[in-house]
Amino acid sequence: MSSSPTSDAHGARAEIVVDLAAIRHNVRRLREITTRDGNSPLMMTVVKADGYGHGMLPVAGAAREAGADWIGVATIDEAVALRDGHDRGRILCWLGAPGENYGAAIERDIDVTAYSVDELAEIEQAAVDQGARARVQLKVDTGLCRGGCTYADWPALVAAAREAEERGAVAITGIWSHLACADDPGHVANDRQEQVFRDALAVVEAAGLRPEVRHLANSAASVLRPSAWFDLVRCGIASYGLDPAPGVTDGLGLVPAMTVRARLSMVKRLRTGDAVSYGHRWAAEHDTTVALVPVGYGEGLPRAASNKGEVWFAGKRRPIRGTLCMDQFVIDLGDDEAAAGDEIEIFGTGDDGAVTAQDWAERVNTINYEIVTQIGGRLARRHIDSSVSDR
Ligand SMILES: *Cc1c(COP(=O)(O)O)cnc(C)c1O
Repeated sequence: MSSSPTSDAHGARAEIVVDLAAIRHNVRRLREITTRDGNSPLMMTVVKADGYGHGMLPVAGAAREAGADWIGVATIDEAVALRDGHDRGRILCWLGAPGENYGAAIERDIDVTAYSVDELAEIEQAAVDQGARARVQLKVDTGLCRGGCTYADWPALVAAAREAEERGAVAITGIWSHLACADDPGHVANDRQEQVFRDALAVVEAAGLRPEVRHLANSAASVLRPSAWFDLVRCGIASYGLDPAPGVTDGLGLVPAMTVRARLSMVKRLRTGDAVSYGHRWAAEHDTTVALVPVGYGEGLPRAASNKGEVWFAGKRRPIRGTLCMDQFVIDLGDDEAAAGDEIEIFGTGDDGAVTAQDWAERVNTINYEIVTQIGGRLARRHIDSSVSDR
């Protein structure tokens, strides 16, 4: 496996390697993709859930180096960790519950989001208690029917926001919404949501609010739907080099940043009829060589990949045989040679036809987001910078 781009002398049983040069490349590439006639919306890189499993702080640092104007996260805790980790730029968070520590966000100049009049009131109170001004964005539900203020309640929230601004402890910095079907560009919901968003912005305008940023697009809309860009795009999955709309967005020039690799624990020869792993859900139809990979669902690999997934070894895809267990699984090498200690790639950049997180996702009927975000458990994660080190 010395041909693997991330191969090196590290002796780990298994590890996650994240290439920060790939993150920078992807952030710059997304900027290019969202540029029309020399103009581009502001770039927010979304690093929630520990940077989709890639490591929140290193990813945020790489994104800033590549020009990310904003960093987006779900929770206040994540935003606080970013600021306390010395991120100095604009940060937006967007998901809370009553009793949230808004003071921690306000004192760190983090923009928070209000979905309702009650939430806005709670944020305003936290700002008053602190003698500070909260930066607040309002989220309107344009049809995802998840978080955000319904269009019916929107005028009341906007009016409350205007009054709060006049009292002085709140500044409304943004208005935003989120799409339900951006990965399906022909879906009628996209046009509808965009229209509702424009209507919601008209309400904001009429109320006299002057937010800095209006935003609607996630990664898929950033690459597929220029009409949804407004002032800022929120790019999560594409920043990690994964396709936001598989089958729709070919050839974006993104590079997967995460590689998961392991060393074979042992190699053995099976005879025809030998059955493998818990439940004996696979039996050899002819003599074959199998190898034990010391990684399992305890590291976040999906057990549903039993008898379905593939890994990359010595320039070929190798099928998983039998049940994928908590700590380990078995792969089939046919009559190829291998030795304990040889390195395999569980998924990575996909160069030369190698296995990707997208391949794993397809095998188990999920999305690439879930594969990379779940990976972890006992695995060590190592950040490299392929542009400065020889990986
Ligand atoms: C996670 C998230 C994003 C990023 O979505 P991707 O599809 O990963 O680009 C953008 N906006 C909001 C509100 C999110 O929760």
